[in-house]
Amino acid sequence: MLSKVKAYLIKHDVKPSIQRIAVMNYLFNNRTHPTVDEIFSALSPNMPTLSKTTVYSTLKLLAEKGAILQLTIDEKNVRYDACIDPHAHFICLGCGCVHDVAPIYLDKVHMEKYKNLNIIETQVYYKGYCDECLDNMEGKVKESAEPDSHLKQLNS
Ligand SMILES: [Zn+2]
Ligand SMILES: [Zn+2]
Repeated sequence: MLSKVKAYLIKHDVKPSIQRIAVMNYLFNNRTHPTVDEIFSALSPNMPTLSKTTVYSTLKLLAEKGAILQLTIDEKNVRYDACIDPHAHFICLGCGCVHDVAPIYLDKVHMEKYKNLNIIETQVYYKGYCDECLDNMEGKVKESAEPDSHLKQLNS
């Protein structure tokens, strides 16, 4: 696996240092669109010399070289994605989970008439709530309705 990661970095013109291989490998194995903090806390126990600054500059380099995608879907944290094929994203405003949404070709179809604009990147973001968060919210609504049923019990 690591030699595959190494080859991937070389293919994208990134010199494969141990740290860079570790960051890229983590992104390949964790398709949850992690943040810098998540990547750093996952890797640092096994790499005591690793700093958050190094993780950050590695991610920046990988994105510049087109090896990963940098997502700004979450206003609080930049997210990183090892899948560089065009696809859209959905973020849950409750728990912050980010999901891949089927590939989109909006750029090709829609942008054809803008002959003077040259696209290098397309980002499509959907925002909403995942099923789990929606269930929790409905649960809270039910909970707040509960005092009423307690009253009924007391009265009966
Ligand atoms: Zn959620
Ligand atoms: Zn993605």
